[in-house]
Amino acid sequence: MLDGQGRTIDYMRISITDRCNLRCRYCMPNGISWVPMEQILTYEEIKALAIEAAELGIRKIKVTGGEPLVRKGCPSLVGMLKSVPGVEQVTLTTNGVYLEEYVEELKDHGLDGVNVSLDTLNPRHFYDITGRDDLKKVLNGIEAALREQIPLKVNVVLQKGQNEDEWMNLASLAKERKLDVRFIEMMPIGYGRNYELIPNEEILRKLEVCYGPLKKDMQVHGNGPAVYYQVPGYEGSIGFISAMHGKFCQYCNRIRVTSTGEIKSCLCYEDRISVRDALRANDTEEVRRRLALAIQNKPAAHKFEIQELITEQKEMSSIGG
Ligand code: SAM
Ligand code: SF4
Repeated sequence: MLDGQGRTIDYMRISITDRCNLRCRYCMPNGISWVPMEQILTYEEIKALAIEAAELGIRKIKVTGGEPLVRKGCPSLVGMLKSVPGVEQVTLTTNGVYLEEYVEELKDHGLDGVNVSLDTLNPRHFYDITGRDDLKKVLNGIEAALREQIPLKVNVVLQKGQNEDEWMNLASLAKERKLDVRFIEMMPIGYGRNYELIPNEEILRKLEVCYGPLKKDMQVHGNGPAVYYQVPGYEGSIGFISAMHGKFCQYCNRIRVTSTGEIKSCLCYEDRISVRDALRANDTEEVRRRLALAIQNKPAAHKFEIQELITEQKEMSSIGG
């Protein structure tokens, strides 16, 4: 469906849990007080929501969290969403710790792609950033997804004074592996507000110093706003998601659903429309009406550049990234 600005909205990110096994310092360093399970949408409710969303033109779904793989039965949810008429693609965003364990099941349920968030290849930095010692497991997860030939992207958030010097090592993951590495600019949401931004242009410039002018890769790689470049000798591409320095709101195609069933049409603002009660009352018409309302009223643009206009107070873990 078209939103109020005439943009086609065909992509929905669903957070299936607010819980996580890591404690990323810019996301939920101290954990959060978990939402009681009875407030979280069941898999049947998520599927019912996806059916209504597909009726409105949603074609691609991303399963996210918190950490989606800590919720029992996540691969079966992937299968349930794949069975929804009109849904063409179901993908997953994960920190990768449990990926090796679940990768076969995910593949069997038809997963179309996986994004692994990985900010460092240095075990000490990994511990500093995530509060856990799980780098090896994430790397095993990446190799396992490659073996299963599931399309794979590695998402990197560079942080000043932490992993900013690792851009080359991280980009190099795409050198000998068929995966894309994407640099995501830190957004001023939750603890992300405390970080000084590293502009993606800076990383692109540094890459070009090493490899010469890079050609844009015009192939479609995913659902969103990343701009990709081909690097000579690399198997995969390097992508940049520059929410801050390359505002892409006029192309935004997405809505988000929190684990408690609130529809959120822009990351920047606290506005939400709940569909949980309507789902629990089996009122499919009302679910669709509220979804349509959220899409219709999707803001024209974020205002991340003006602190006072950012009304979203929740952490990224409860929104799904
Ligand atoms: N736990 C999963 C993971 O880490 O991929 C899924 C949820 S996590 C909230 C989704 C993505 O949001 C991760 O790639 C994470 O790096 C990113 N993220 C969290 N806070 C962010 C922020 N303030 N700015 C930019 N990206 C952020
Ligand atoms: Fe967990 Fe993902 Fe947030 Fe890290 S970024 S704390 S892995 S939800």
